[in-house]
Amino acid sequence: MINQELLKILACPFCKTVVRLESNTLFCTNKECGCQYAVEDDIPIMLIDQAKRSCPQCGTQRDWVEDKDLIVCPQCQTKIEYKPQV
Ligand SMILES: [Zn+2]
Ligand SMILES: [Zn+2]
Repeated sequence: MINQELLKILACPFCKTVVRLESNTLFCTNKECGCQYAVEDDIPIMLIDQAKRSCPQCGTQRDWVEDKDLIVCPQCQTKIEYKPQV
């Protein structure tokens, strides 16, 4: 079980929104972002390139085209702003 205090300070590395734990997966609470992070041996894997990211419009998983500070869904062209970690 992940420490609740740790959970409070965890944020999605993709959009900086707080995450919510559900059945060993951390879900970004930002619906526009929709990133999911696995938890392995009680350690959250908060890495953008390890995240599952499904398109809020069409559900396409990852393989989004990164275009500077935008990520574009190849399926429906939905754009999500990308805020890289500083
Ligand atoms: Zn996010
Ligand atoms: Zn899409």
